[in-house]
Amino acid sequence: MATRRRAQKKHYRLEPVSESDVLRAADMAIQILRITGTQDLDELGRALSEPESAAASKLSIFVFDSEQLTLLSNHAKDLRLLRNKPTVALSECPVCHLVSAVAGSVTKCNLTNGCPGKPAKSSVAKRVEIPLNILAEHQSAA
Ligand SMILES: [Zn+2]
Repeated sequence: MATRRRAQKKHYRLEPVSESDVLRAADMAIQILRITGTQDLDELGRALSEPESAAASKLSIFVFDSEQLTLLSNHAKDLRLLRNKPTVALSECPVCHLVSAVAGSVTKCNLTNGCPGKPAKSSVAKRVEIPLNILAEHQSAA
């Protein structure tokens, strides 16, 4: 790869699209797996433990706020169920609040007998470019 001049690199943040906390965390986590080309959180963790890895470098242009980091760490156990290729997402039942891994679509709750809930499924967080002036504030605050 050619050496880049020190032009300001574009930075991005992730914007979850789901409603509930656990699914918002999953929206971000699945996008992080896609960005880094890793299969699951275990592989991601191994990749990020080496600061010079390709995964770490790809993720370095994404800025996370403390609320997002808290969300990810609060739901780390459920997020370990996620897979990148093929995608395994999370579903959460709005009635019994159980979370499970789903590969296809979910139409009804099958986690609790007789539960009338229709589970929501996690999606993929959007990548939003951070304007340079906002980014400068982020970096000076850090
Ligand atoms: Zn349910």
